[in-house]
Amino acid sequence: MDETEHTSQADDSGDSGEETDGPHVTDDGVDDPPPDPSNRAVEANGSDADKAPTSDHDAGVVDGQASVADQGVDATQQSEAGVGTDGSPTAAEGPTADEAATPDPDVDADTDVNVGSGGRDRSSPDVDLDGVVLDDDDSQGLFDDLLSGEPIFENKEVLRPSYTPHELPHRNDQINRMATILVSALRGETPSNILIYGKTGTGKTASAKFVSQELESTSQKYDVPCEVEYINCEVTDTQYRVLAQLANTFIEKNQQVIADRLDDHRALRSDAADDSDALAATEFATLDELDARIEQLEADAAEMEEVPMTGWPTDRVYSTFFEAVDYHERVVVIMLDEIDKLVEKSGDDTLYNLSRMNSELTRSRISIMGISNDLKFTDFLDPRVKSSLGEEEIVFPPYDANQLRDILQHRADIAFKHEALTDDVIPLCAAFAAQEHGDARRALDLLRTAGELAERSQAEIVAEKHVRQAQDKIELDRVVEVVRTLPTQSKIVLFAVILLEKNGVHNINTGEVFNIYKRLCEEIDADVLTQRRVTDLISELDMLGIVNAVVVSKGRYGRTKEMGLSVPVEETEAVLLSDSRLGDIENAQPFVQARFDN
Ligand code: ADP
Ligand code: MG
Repeated sequence: MDETEHTSQADDSGDSGEETDGPHVTDDGVDDPPPDPSNRAVEANGSDADKAPTSDHDAGVVDGQASVADQGVDATQQSEAGVGTDGSPTAAEGPTADEAATPDPDVDADTDVNVGSGGRDRSSPDVDLDGVVLDDDDSQGLFDDLLSGEPIFENKEVLRPSYTPHELPHRNDQINRMATILVSALRGETPSNILIYGKTGTGKTASAKFVSQELESTSQKYDVPCEVEYINCEVTDTQYRVLAQLANTFIEKNQQVIADRLDDHRALRSDAADDSDALAATEFATLDELDARIEQLEADAAEMEEVPMTGWPTDRVYSTFFEAVDYHERVVVIMLDEIDKLVEKSGDDTLYNLSRMNSELTRSRISIMGISNDLKFTDFLDPRVKSSLGEEEIVFPPYDANQLRDILQHRADIAFKHEALTDDVIPLCAAFAAQEHGDARRALDLLRTAGELAERSQAEIVAEKHVRQAQDKIELDRVVEVVRTLPTQSKIVLFAVILLEKNGVHNINTGEVFNIYKRLCEEIDADVLTQRRVTDLISELDMLGIVNAVVVSKGRYGRTKEMGLSVPVEETEAVLLSDSRLGDIENAQPFVQARFDN
């Protein structure tokens, strides 16, 4: 990837400002296209940015050497597949990425020079690869094509969730409120506990981290003992782990403090040995006192035992943390991000224990900042915990489309090459993400994915269609992930719906699903649930957005659910069949026939 970026920078420097509608056209032909000496120049008369990527292969077609061109095609596809699997976390890469690049097949058949985005993407099944002799010009290695593409990104990392932005537009109010509450810590007082709410992608984590960095740096500046501990409870999701992580962090810090003090004291000790006045301005009246302190510190250091990741009784972990944090004077802000996950998984004991610590701590004070994606999570809390934790509440509302535009624009300026986006890209990403409850993460994902799809199809500019493809891809990835992680019984139910749908059944009702379901269960030796349970599973699939079920009244025959699939049939089926148990169902046709027998 690095290399791609270098190449791109070199290329990019030459083209700024030249292009209006046919970006990089001149650049490709005239400037330095180092890794790709082939036929870029032919595009000079084209204005469609999408034509760019493929002209080198198309040249083969032009010469009438279709098979050579197709060889090029396959090489490209292989390399694309490679990027697909490493570049992105998702299983459904292939189809969408291919679609992204799928050209109009007519174009290259009968156009002669600027054959557009034709050749490379056709996967001609009848190409005889063995018989192909490559032209020198066309002998592209696996990576050549990718390298030769005009890279779109300047710094893709900026669009990843791991990047912490230095500026957070539209979060001033929330950030200021946090700061106003936490500033007590810098005065040596205990800040109120804070509870932060907001849906995913509303900037909670980013804002909290920003504030904690500022808090710590200010505390260093004024030399006030204030520390922030950030814990992601999605990862650290039990009381034991939270306390152990806190204990070990503070033990480590204490060891450092002890080591520093020992250094000072030992230095003083050796000064004092020569010069009895050395102790005058210190807290030590005599050498014996100093020796005693040194001994004490050494003993403290030896005593502090790290908490193992498992195995201790919880109260021992708790008291180890307690002693560690209380070892010296300080104010500690504990940020528990995704706190709802912790409570969901392990109840509110951790919060209860943490929230009553201050009454027993003698030197230090702690303050808790909980961050929750779930607006109703306090409903599950012990009332004492609830009132203690929610002393201050800050809400992070969803972003609207305009705010998302600002956020995206800030990032895009750093992430992309100059003029790598058409004007409608950011507004469209913002609009899609605004529909998705104003989720900035989704907006950034969309923008990054759109850029990747453009890059992969060797387009030279990210356009609206890439955003739409990215939207489809992300949506499909979500579906694939949801379906892949369904429990087996739900998978069987879903498979029954798919079989019915594939056989042209509309308004599928529960009874029909149940009949197919039963037969599928028998086929793969799974337990058969009651129709009632199956109806529940259908409701769950409905809630997950996989099927769309409505209750219809059948008059005196009662009510039934009618449903259809809300996700793409082929992809969903493929995911189901990749489950080793369902994969056993070879030929499902007979099951569907069976419904007519009933
Ligand atoms: P949450 O914790 O609420 O789910 P995050 O803080 O993780 O949301 O934000 C999701 C993504 O959106 C992150 O990449 C973050 O940097 C970005 N983001 C959120 N709000 C802003 C903002 N106001 N300005 C810039 N980037 C933002
Ligand atoms: Mg978060």
